[in-house]
Amino acid sequence: MRDDDIIRLVVSLVIVVVVLAVYIGLIVLGVSIAKRKNRSPHWMWFSIHPLGLIITLIVMACLSPLKRCPQCAQKSPQHARLCGFCGYNYETPGAYAPPQPGIYVPPPRY
Ligand SMILES: [Zn+2]
Repeated sequence: MRDDDIIRLVVSLVIVVVVLAVYIGLIVLGVSIAKRKNRSPHWMWFSIHPLGLIITLIVMACLSPLKRCPQCAQKSPQHARLCGFCGYNYETPGAYAPPQPGIYVPPPRY
């Protein structure tokens, strides 16, 4: 093995390691963006393909963040006024309480 071959091998190995590090770094960046926006980090599984990584990163950067309900911990859009799962009122907490399941509430008399 000549010196030129060894240098070429080392240079190509360094290039492969740098490209892999950048690739994994971009995936970690996408996961951190997803977590910051309360989105599922599992969307980054599309990054198995390099084109999927680019598309998922762009979509993840453009998506609006979700807010988490303090009562049931489900996620709702940022502009939601009521939680779609438990009816929690984001604007005036405690204004609407859905009836407890299994408890009969008679209809109001007029
Ligand atoms: Zn809720």
